[in-house]
Amino acid sequence: MALGEIWYGAGRNYQDFVMVNIGYGIGSGVIIRGTPLYGSLGMAGEFGHITFDKDSDAQCECGNFGCLEALASGNAIAKAARKELERGAASDLLQACDGDPSRLTAEMVAQSAKRGDQVAWKVFDLAAEYIGVGIAGLINLHNPEAVFIGGGVAQAGDILFDRVRKAVQARALKKTSDAVSILPATFGLRSAVMGAVSLILSGVVNLNVEHNNDSAKN
Ligand SMILES: [Zn+2]
Repeated sequence: MALGEIWYGAGRNYQDFVMVNIGYGIGSGVIIRGTPLYGSLGMAGEFGHITFDKDSDAQCECGNFGCLEALASGNAIAKAARKELERGAASDLLQACDGDPSRLTAEMVAQSAKRGDQVAWKVFDLAAEYIGVGIAGLINLHNPEAVFIGGGVAQAGDILFDRVRKAVQARALKKTSDAVSILPATFGLRSAVMGAVSLILSGVVNLNVEHNNDSAKN
């Protein structure tokens, strides 16, 4: 997704940026001086697996407890809302899921929150705050010019972005947070597809370079 932003999206205007994907899970891609940060095993940017609450009983898909992904991903938002309904909270969400909490999605929670449902708003806002606190950390760590947020949860729009910007202002170092733009990913839900295309193309380009080098040697 970060490559898609560099090649085709608003990322073309930035040398240093972070792409954060918040969908079923949470991940990130870090671009430093126009180059993606891969890490020794190609696993850099596993933003979603930073432990946010060491005492949490929310288990992450990675096996750890209290990861950001276990607290604030689309899956976590749906789970938290489900818990509220099972606890008997009065909420529009019950109609939204046709009376079956197992069918709740993060999108339903975002929609209900926007309509003013307090339970949905509380669940969504807490997740958005976690995401904002995490992004403040990324900003302190990498000092990017921009942070792009994509994925399903990012489609909620202002209720996510306003909360994230507030958390960043409150938590990141002032000099870095004043200078950073927090923006929706250029391609919305197509970001992952654009990223996949870019990844394949970058493979093709690199193969061409290697091939040309080989021919030069031969
Ligand atoms: Zn995890």
